[in-house]
Amino acid sequence: MRFDILTLFPEMFEAVLNNSIIGRAQAKGIIDLQYIQIRDFAYNKHRKVDDYPYGGGAGMVMQAEPIFQAYESVCRNLDYKPKTIYLSPQGKVFRQSTAKRLAKEKHLILLCGHYEGVDQRVLDEIVDAEISLGDFVLTGGEIAAMAVVDAVARMIPGVLKSAEAFSEESHFHGLLEYPQYTRPEIWHGKSVPEILLSGHHKNIEAWKRETAIRTTFQKRKGMLGRASLSDEEKKMVNELKKTQNM
Ligand code: SAM
Repeated sequence: MRFDILTLFPEMFEAVLNNSIIGRAQAKGIIDLQYIQIRDFAYNKHRKVDDYPYGGGAGMVMQAEPIFQAYESVCRNLDYKPKTIYLSPQGKVFRQSTAKRLAKEKHLILLCGHYEGVDQRVLDEIVDAEISLGDFVLTGGEIAAMAVVDAVARMIPGVLKSAEAFSEESHFHGLLEYPQYTRPEIWHGKSVPEILLSGHHKNIEAWKRETAIRTTFQKRKGMLGRASLSDEEKKMVNELKKTQNM
């Protein structure tokens, strides 16, 4: 899968995306990450990419033309339009389901704004969707773009060792993940739950599912309404609700 990131700060990405799992996925050729420096498309004396907002207001606005030219440099020789996403606090909040959906695309373009934002006209012309990292305002879209690339890339077959690695994780099936433990068996006097040492695969799976539901109930109750639960599990959630109201 190919990602083209339109940004004024390509160097911000390297430490994050050239290491660990995403770095290895690039080395294996499963994902291709390209950074397009928007400033390279500012054909003026000082390579300026921003200007004062019409109508006044604080800060500077990124101009349409350098962004459009940067976008065109990616699309010029393609016979399809890559899905183009603007990272924005005004977008739909990014979720695991968004990452799952985007992992099916063959090519994404991510536009990172900076300063007070981007001239609306170029957004209207090139952007297919706006994605927000959450209801807060960042200095620029770069951190959000890194989060999107990381979350999407790990869903692409071959990036993680097995699909199980992400399909059991928090949010994949609408639940948070069960608690995890590793060696040593006893740490600070606290033991690993006995069932995990039992080697009884079926009981361990049942424990994982039950504790995932309990964890979700404790930490993010609102998610349970969207999770697909068996009748037995729904009863368990009702019991948890009753004990909480006692
Ligand atoms: N003036 C803009 C507004 O109020 O909607 C905010 C501009 S923000 C300071 C600069 C850039 O950071 C934006 O163009 C966007 O690309 C990025 N950004 C800020 N918050 C974000 C968020 N929550 N999610 C994704 N991108 C964000």
